[in-house]
Parts: sequence; C-alpha cells; structure tokens
Amino acid sequence: MAVLDPGWIVLLALVVGASKIEWTGDSWNPIVGCSICTTGCSRCYAMWHALRLSGKPGSPYRGTVEKVKGLPVWTGVVNWNSDAKRYAMRHLRPNPARPHRIFVCSMSDLFHPEALRQGMTLWVYREMARHPGHHYQILTKRPELALEFYREHPEFSCLPGVWLGVSVEHQDTAWRIDTLRAIPAEVRFVSFEPLLGPIAGVNLAGIDWAIYGGESANRVERARPMRPEWVRGVRDLCAALGVAQFFKQWGHWYSRRNGLDGKGGGDQAVIDGRRWDEYPVAPADARREMDRLRAALASATPPSRASARTSCPRRTAPAASAPTNGPVTYGRVFPPSSVTIRRAPTTRPSPRL
Ligand code: SF4
Repeated sequence: MAVLDPGWIVLLALVVGASKIEWTGDSWNPIVGCSICTTGCSRCYAMWHALRLSGKPGSPYRGTVEKVKGLPVWTGVVNWNSDAKRYAMRHLRPNPARPHRIFVCSMSDLFHPEALRQGMTLWVYREMARHPGHHYQILTKRPELALEFYREHPEFSCLPGVWLGVSVEHQDTAWRIDTLRAIPAEVRFVSFEPLLGPIAGVNLAGIDWAIYGGESANRVERARPMRPEWVRGVRDLCAALGVAQFFKQWGHWYSRRNGLDGKGGGDQAVIDGRRWDEYPVAPADARREMDRLRAALASATPPSRASARTSCPRRTAPAASAPTNGPVTYGRVFPPSSVTIRRAPTTRPSPRL
C-alpha cells in the first residue's frame, strides 16, 4: 500500500480541508504565493508552509519562496494550485442550516497584484458566484486593489456569502478600514492580528466583525509582544459599537510568559474572565432565518374558523407600492468615484523586523 509522506498530506489538505484557524472551518487555496506587504507580514506562517512544500515534484509552491539568511521569504511569484482549482468547490455541498465557513487564499492574498494581473482573482470570484450557499472569508492587506477590482466588476457587489476583511496590525494601517468601508461586501470584517500595538480612535462603523489576537511565529522566540491592554482596547471598541468580536489567541509571546500552551488559543483566549467568540450574521442568513421562523409560525397556528371568516384578503394584500420579492439591497451601495482612498505606503519595510 502506498503511504503518503506528511508533506503530501498537508498539501492535499490545503486543496480544501479543515483549517486549524479558529474562526474558519475550511481553507481553500486555488492560488499560492505572495510578497511581504507590511510589518504584519514579516512572520507570515504561509511562507514556512510554502518552504516545506515547495520541494515536492509538481508542487504549486515551487518558486514562491526563497531562503534569505536561513529564513523563507516570498519571491512575489503567485501560482495556480491546480488541484484546488479543479476539484474544490464543486464537491462541497452547501449546508443551508449551517453554511461552511471557507477561508479563501490562506496561502496568498487574493488581491495581490500578480493574482489580479493573471486573472486569478476574477476566476475565484466567478467560482464563488457559481457555488453559493457557503461563507467565503477573504482577508487582504491590499484593500485599495480590492476596491479597484470591485469598481471594475460591479457584478460582484454584495455577492451573497462573501465576507471581505482587512488586516490591521497597528494604528498605522487603520486606513485600510476606511477603504474597506467603501467596498460593497455583504459582510465586512477586520483582523487585528497580529496585534502589534494599541489601537485607539479607530472608526468601526459599517464593520460587522472583528478578530484579534497575538502573533504566532514559526520560531516561537521570534514572536512579537501583544499586551493585555491592547486586547482590552479592541474589545471595548467593538463592544461600544456592537460589532461581533472574536478573540483568537494570546500569541506565543504572551503565552510563554504566562504558562499557557502553544499560542494561547481556544479556551485559553480569555480576557477579564470572558471568551469572545462571536460571529456576524450575514444578511442572507438573517433573511433565511426569518423565512424559516415565519413558516414555522404559520404551520404551528392554523387559522381558526372564526378568524378565517373575519380575515379580509383585500386588507392583507400588499399595496401596489409595497416591495416585491425581487433582489434585496442591504443599504450598501457602490461608492461614488469621488471617494478618496488612501493608498498603501510606497516604501516597503524590511521583511525581517
Ligand atoms: S499578505 Fe498575508 S499571505 Fe501575504 S505575506 Fe502578508 S501575511 Fe503573508
């Protein structure tokens, strides 16, 4: 019997498989490879995975990373992952009661310039539109390119099931939230991870979900600090606006100093005696739940003879101007072209900070 070596098992799992990331269910990686964007990228876990997998014959990770001073660094090459491209979505049956949460491109950035140039981003969006019924979670550090993409492809505005998020590792990158707000995504979220500094005065209006947590590093001793007061800052920011929040982990730095296991995630991710593991409610799900409750109510209380006699179809019929069952808009409209968007800084930080 042929036995798969561990590297290939990881590779197959990355086609579409259970993810260890707490806030998602599966990961789907039709494209792989990236380049360092900001300081939040310098310990990017995906570079280590890519290094481990790039040596396999036929691996999609070939050429995506190189070693610099013994550490993996992205080369900027973005490749198709043909297995994930061919098989993934068509075999994942939607579960209306509990849609799959799928992290799209955990080994890349869907709005990387190379992915956009090669039409990979467009292909992924078309695939998501073709296979509804799931929750597709996309996280980017390049929202300015995402906004351009949405402007060029208004057909994907408010695409049901697409959750679009930006990473904000410290105050300097909070501008990404303003750009995200201008993008017509059904659910918008912010990942404050790795949280590398205090976050204050950030506007979370229009944001549905926030994730936060400390850094996990492949070499544990290299993880950067995250302090409890920074966690409280984000928690209180979310609580003030009623934004759903998810405290993912303390990270290796805090964990090592406080006797926690590993990254200090799961049941250890407690702040002031409470876990925060909330999720947003997508409008499409809220509507489906309302329909379900209405149907349950209707079947549970059949009209009595008396009420049937007194009911008046004319009075209950919708007025001519009442909304029809046509497409529903959730109040998110495509931004006018006059919206001013801050661009990403042109100077790139050193990859090893
Ligand atoms: S954008 Fe994401 S995948 Fe790309 S280097 Fe940064 S952390 Fe890694």
